[in-house]
Amino acid sequence: MAAKQKIESYSGFEQGPIRPPSEANSLLIRVTRNCSWNRCKFCRAYRGKKFSVRPLEHVIKDIDSVATHVETLRGIALQYGRLTQKQVSLAFKDIANDQYEPYYAAVNWFVGGMESIFLQDGNSLVRKPEELITILNHIKSSFPWIQRITSYARSHTVAKIKPDILESMGRAGLNRIHVGLESGSDEVLRNVNKGVTKEIHIKAGLNIKKAGIELSEYVMPGLGGIKLSEIHARETADALNSINPDFIRIRTLAVPEGIELFDDYKAGNFEKCTDIMMAKETLLFIKSLKNITSVIKSDHILNLFGDLEGTFPHDKERMVNILQSFLDMDPQQQCLYQVGRRLGHFYGLQDMNDHYKLKKAETVCDEYGITPDNVEQVIEDMINRFI
Ligand code: SF4
Repeated sequence: MAAKQKIESYSGFEQGPIRPPSEANSLLIRVTRNCSWNRCKFCRAYRGKKFSVRPLEHVIKDIDSVATHVETLRGIALQYGRLTQKQVSLAFKDIANDQYEPYYAAVNWFVGGMESIFLQDGNSLVRKPEELITILNHIKSSFPWIQRITSYARSHTVAKIKPDILESMGRAGLNRIHVGLESGSDEVLRNVNKGVTKEIHIKAGLNIKKAGIELSEYVMPGLGGIKLSEIHARETADALNSINPDFIRIRTLAVPEGIELFDDYKAGNFEKCTDIMMAKETLLFIKSLKNITSVIKSDHILNLFGDLEGTFPHDKERMVNILQSFLDMDPQQQCLYQVGRRLGHFYGLQDMNDHYKLKKAETVCDEYGITPDNVEQVIEDMINRFI
């Protein structure tokens, strides 16, 4: 006799732990839990957590809950001309306990403009395509005004999806996929246990674009360590030159305790790049990007240059100049910039011209005895505290 499948009961509206920075205003709909791979050595987003696919009807229930609250909020906004904090609190009194979470998800989304939805968690496209399409259709019919539905996906998963199925997902409303490319170097990918190759990354990227879905690729400066820094920069650029994604997003490597790469680092098997090395690597990466029209985004707080953004090929020279200007500074100036940036006083190099902000960075350096000789250690401590 076949074993009975355990039926999971609905335990309420769910939200996963992370989303891309660019999805800050999106409504988060959790379609799977955690990551189906969960083995990348630099990632602790879902560490120790088991992957599962949420039952279709549970996801639909989550969407319906938010839709009900959105209707309430729209009614309030219509009645009072806008949604005030007072009215939000008043309406909250009538909300049942099990509806608190979807209610606040709806409030945040309403306030954020209700333009986009992000499907959580780490690899939504691993769900059965027909179920994902049902979810997309339900989202579209519940919120017909939305402009964007986006998701994370692994290249490994996407490369196996037939092009016509991917196209159907696009037609059903999935219009942007965020892929963690991280590196185009097979050696780097292997070392960090990414579970894909450059070839798979390229195939997946091209399939997404062919399906008419926007593609956002994340790259990770520093992932090759000192030893593979150059090949990491060159091969990553080469992969992206083959794909020409809509967006290239920079997310600098951090090596906090609790990830496998930290163990490699402690054991002396991975040598971390300094900020100066990372700037050199990024300069080589930007210089090696060719014949693409991608938009570069630096929307992660760990990045050394918040203003390293622009559209290729037009802004390439400006981006090269930002990095070269930093590398041309004397060590004391570089140290001030590193500290100012890590403390959030600086966004980009131009902030060094702001006397007030510069003074703040100088004061911290004086107070804590931060010099070019110890700045890397201080920054490592700061980053570890931050993440
Ligand atoms: S595939 Fe993405 S979410 Fe999963 S472990 Fe790797 S980096 Fe983390």
